[in-house]
Amino acid sequence: MTAENKDVKTEGKDTKNTKYHSKPYKYQKRKRFCKFCAKGIEIVDYKDVETLKKYINFNNKIMPKKQSGCCTSHQRRVSNAIKRARILALLPFIDQN
Ligand SMILES: [Zn+2]
Repeated sequence: MTAENKDVKTEGKDTKNTKYHSKPYKYQKRKRFCKFCAKGIEIVDYKDVETLKKYINFNNKIMPKKQSGCCTSHQRRVSNAIKRARILALLPFIDQN
């Protein structure tokens, strides 16, 4: 490894504050909002499978609050509704693979 190779490596990147200031817009934080609060829904129905499926993971796990974007009370209601729907066999417990 010569000194020239090091120069080539550093040339490709922008050396000015890449760590802190030049994040592209794509990765910036977007403000999340609770969809239930926006629609004015208070009670989450456990029979409404289509809406509950949106809050289930690829592996049929309940999404955490950070991903789903729900507020605390609605996240609790959604998780309770999913657990009820699982007992009634409307939603699966585990991944079937
Ligand atoms: Zn809410």
